[in-house]
Amino acid sequence: MDLQISGKRAVVLGASRGLGQAIAKGLAAEGVTVFAAARSVDKIEAWSADMDNVHAVQLDLGDLAQVDATIDMLLEGEGVDIIINNGGGPPPGTAQSAGRSDWVSHFEAMAANLFHMTNRLLPKMKERNWGRVISITSSGVEQPIPNLALSNGIRAAVVGWSKTLANEVAGDGITVNVVMPGRIHTERVDELDAAASKRTETPVAEVASKSRATIPAGRYGKPEEFADVVTFLASERASYVTGSRIRIDGGAIKSI
Ligand code: NAD
Repeated sequence: MDLQISGKRAVVLGASRGLGQAIAKGLAAEGVTVFAAARSVDKIEAWSADMDNVHAVQLDLGDLAQVDATIDMLLEGEGVDIIINNGGGPPPGTAQSAGRSDWVSHFEAMAANLFHMTNRLLPKMKERNWGRVISITSSGVEQPIPNLALSNGIRAAVVGWSKTLANEVAGDGITVNVVMPGRIHTERVDELDAAASKRTETPVAEVASKSRATIPAGRYGKPEEFADVVTFLASERASYVTGSRIRIDGGAIKSI
């Protein structure tokens, strides 16, 4: 299937490793010019060394001035056609342990600054009557994950925002969707397993094995499997998919 996105321009946030990196590579392989953004430019430069169509951008999503500078840089060109809203996950913790300042600071980096960036990039998409806005959330928005209160709460806001925006811009050729990773094997997942191992005083291999056992597929997903679905959603071929939440979870979410 020809995805028909060669020559498009994308910004991929949180692209130094993990899901963001896999998505950036997936889009680049389809001939998309990718602006891959994260705090560590050197890491992006390392994985994209042999790719002419990937440009590393230094960006801390928690810093509004840097967010605006990135948007200005993108708009000085032709803007972008595809936005991948991604970034770091918040630290684990219960709802009772999350303080007001935790909610505010993580909301800025995981939600408000992404909404702001999308809003500023949308007019160029509207001019071209084509755009894709894809936000990476978590299975926790459908089935809240214990001890990930900040993630469960803030990502639910991203879902509400995404659906509202989808309705507003569907007539402009712009689709807006949310993808929900279950457990995709990235460094973040290894870090979460290590944290659970410490908290429960259980060997990390046992934690990971118990976690895999809750997934009908019996394994963690691969970043490339996740990126393939996102690349399809970003393509011309997914032009009638909007306002949706797509699970990429090996069947992990229990509800229908
Ligand atoms: P990761 O931690 O491996 O990668 C996150 C990326 O975001 C990295 O490139 C990191 O440098 C970047 N980043 C972090 N903070 C940033 C900031 N302030 N500004 C700019 N970039 C920043 O995570 P991942 O596994 O690739 O997951 C991506 C997102 O999806 C995370 O928010 C994660 O919580 C969420 N998620 C992942 C899974 C999974 O199975 N991997 C499951 C549920 C949710």
